[in-house]
Amino acid sequence: MGLLTLTSKGLSWFLKGHPWVFRDDLEKIQDAQAGGIVSLERRNGQFLAQGFYSDRSKIAFRLISRNREPIDRAFWKGRIQRAAQFRQLAVEKTNAYRVVYGESDGVPSLIVDRYGEHWVMQTLSQGADRATGLFADLLAELFQPSSIILRNDLAVRDLEGLPQEKKMILGDSPEWVEVFEGDIRYRVDPWSGQKTGAYLDQRENRLRAGRLLRGKVLDAFCYQGLFALHAARSAAQVTAVDSSLEALEQAKENARLNDLSNIEFLRENVFDFLKGEVERGNRYDGINLDPPAFAKSRGNVDAAVRGYKELNQRAIRLLNPGGILVTSSCSYNLSESRFLDLLRDCARDAKADLWIMEKRGQSADHPVLLTFPESSYLKCLFLQKAPFPPS
Ligand code: SAH
Repeated sequence: MGLLTLTSKGLSWFLKGHPWVFRDDLEKIQDAQAGGIVSLERRNGQFLAQGFYSDRSKIAFRLISRNREPIDRAFWKGRIQRAAQFRQLAVEKTNAYRVVYGESDGVPSLIVDRYGEHWVMQTLSQGADRATGLFADLLAELFQPSSIILRNDLAVRDLEGLPQEKKMILGDSPEWVEVFEGDIRYRVDPWSGQKTGAYLDQRENRLRAGRLLRGKVLDAFCYQGLFALHAARSAAQVTAVDSSLEALEQAKENARLNDLSNIEFLRENVFDFLKGEVERGNRYDGINLDPPAFAKSRGNVDAAVRGYKELNQRAIRLLNPGGILVTSSCSYNLSESRFLDLLRDCARDAKADLWIMEKRGQSADHPVLLTFPESSYLKCLFLQKAPFPPS
């Protein structure tokens, strides 16, 4: 088995509990194979942990276990069962959710999402990639899915020197899968939809928004229209905007599936649309803003902040008194405090009093591991514009 020795700086980092070790924090690398399981040791040879080794990524080691136990089929079966049990507790009102969320579930860089009987896997590092066959076998044995797609068409795999690819690894997946979320049904295309087919991380926020949004509602960056569908059950009229033609086609199909005829779908750039609505003097009682990650790296946080500010400022202007803004950021690199800061600026510039109704995050099937800050990325705030003139 390969062996990694930590530097003293690496040791103090690792003892804090973080599940990754960077290459710079290693003093010695012996017999470690790309994607193999290695031991991590102190300089004096004392065992610390076992994990996956990567010979390409800056993240050289990903923690699997702090014990000297065999990392075999039975071990991984236990980890996957533990993940599934957690979902039984944490997930309700849906048959579409994340079953395994990588490091948070102790299965580094493995993602497993289920859409009813159709499952999707992603392996995002050399170690998980090497174990793909074993993981797929275990999913088949434990859950008997009708199909499993391997959706490894992700750019992060480049950092590991792994190819981007997509393939069926079990059964046959239909062109689309119908699933449910609370009282709505929707169609997913796990083969070519965004992410693994849907933004499962927003599920609980959508259900909550559906209970709160009333009157005239805007769903900006609507993708498959899921916020819009939930809102449309109680709201008078919903406008759903996205720039992607395929997304809007799916969203329209989803509206038909739910017999909802009070949603208008528009293909537009949301930045232009919001500007136009302010100019036209239109107003809304509820707005959902769920843009893609603007801060993809630490380097472009400032530009991202400008983008989020522009959107939120306009959305706040567009709200009627008493109206609700549901605003999200899925950029890991934008911290919650920075997001709150920029929203504060928007409120000031729009001369509006806004209350935080709820501070939310990603759904519980994407559990945040306390010792792994990278597992927490989605921020979602429910804000209400004061229903009387501002102070
Ligand atoms: N709210 C959705 C997820 C939104 S993902 C849900 O809960 O399922 C972000 C969406 O923004 C994508 O569908 C993408 O097509 C769209 N998008 C990205 N940039 C855009 C822009 N400038 N204007 C309009 N839509 C955009």
